[in-house]
Order: sequence, then C-alpha cells, then structure tokens
Amino acid sequence: MSFNQLDLSAPLLKAIAEQGYDNPTPVQEQAIPVILQGRDILAGAQTGTGKTAGFALPILQLLHKQPPASKPHPIRALILTPTRELAMQVYESFRTYGKHLPLFSEVVFGGVSTHVQIQRLQKGTDILVATPGRLLDLLYQKQVDLSQVQFFVLDEADRMLDMGFIKDIRKLIEVLPGQRQNLLFSATYSKEIKILADQLLIDPVEVAV
Ligand code: AMP
Repeated sequence: MSFNQLDLSAPLLKAIAEQGYDNPTPVQEQAIPVILQGRDILAGAQTGTGKTAGFALPILQLLHKQPPASKPHPIRALILTPTRELAMQVYESFRTYGKHLPLFSEVVFGGVSTHVQIQRLQKGTDILVATPGRLLDLLYQKQVDLSQVQFFVLDEADRMLDMGFIKDIRKLIEVLPGQRQNLLFSATYSKEIKILADQLLIDPVEVAV
C-alpha cells in the first residue's frame, strides 16, 4: 500500500515525501483510515513502529478539514505522553508532518519553569502535547483551556500507568468535553489498561501490529 491510497491531503503527502517515507508502516495502514472515519482506537504498538505518524497524520487532516468554531487556535487535540522525551518527539512529529498546514503545536512538561510555557500557550495552539502532571498544574492555574478538545490521545498508556499517572489522567479526562475521539496506544495490555480502555473508549477498533 502507498500513502496515496490513504486519503491524506496534499500538504500531508508533501511533508511525508519530504521525510523520505516510501510506504506506510503496518500500524499506519491500519490506524489512519479508522481514525479518519472518526472511530476510537485501541492500538497495541511499540515505539519504532511508526505509531506517532499513525495518529498525527489523521488528526492533522481532520483538524485542517474542520476549522474551529470559536476563537482562532483553541486546543482541539490533546496528546498525553509519560515522559518529556516522548512529549518532545511527538511534538516534533506534529510540527514536521503539519508544516504545510496552518495549524500550531505546543508542548508542555514538568521539570522546567511554567513561565515560558504559559506565554506560548497564550498565543493559541491547535495541538497540545503534554505530560499529565504539568498539564494538571497549568489547568489548576487556569492557564490552559481544554473545553474544545475533540481528539484525545494516550500514548504509551502502559508506561503512564507504571509511572503512577492514572489519577492525573482521570482528572484530566473529567474536564474534557464528552463528545470527542479517543485513541489509546499501549505496547502491553494489563488489567489496568483494559479497565482504562473500557472507561475511555467508545466501541473502539482494535489495531495490533
Ligand atoms: P515511532 O514508532 O512513531 O516512534 O516512529 C519510529 C521512526 O519511524 C521515526 O523515526 C519515524 O520518523 C519513522 N517513520 C514513521 N513512519 C515511517 C514510514 N512510513 N516510513 C519510514 N519511516 C517512518
């Protein structure tokens, strides 16, 4: 299969070609059409499988197709990751794949001052990649508005649970709008992941690679 068969728009295909990708990886082949259809997914995929592009490309496409109803650049896609390193990687991926689209991405994580992060958020961003603890801090400080989120991604959910983020994740889910598309990526399936998936996902398509 080629990327041209995946129904992605020209600005995304251009960015993919510039990255030198010839064909979609198996997780991309499976996840991209399902996400474009608006379905929730439960994906078992390790790092290195191309999972990031598997969710970033369809989210960028759907965000671009549907302009925001309210002010410019409200946060419409929220991606939670367990570590700052992964948050940076996912953020860089959104920037790379979205470079020919008029969409903004930002990233927030703990261990650094909130000051610069707050200033950057105030400019507006369509996509926010975050670690759970710092995002909750910013939410409690009323420095981040999650009321327009339409896409919610838990990346490496098993690692997030191992690191004790489940309470933070639940608090964040509580403030999200009820109407949204949820994508859960996890390399392993424990009982805890199944419980979270059951609570979070609505009639999900399972993707395994
Ligand atoms: P990930 O599993 O998302 O961490 O991606 C692993 C690596 O695969 C990253 O360095 C990507 O740039 C690369 N990659 C993602 N999709 C493709 C593709 N379709 N063809 C070649 N490389 C890719």
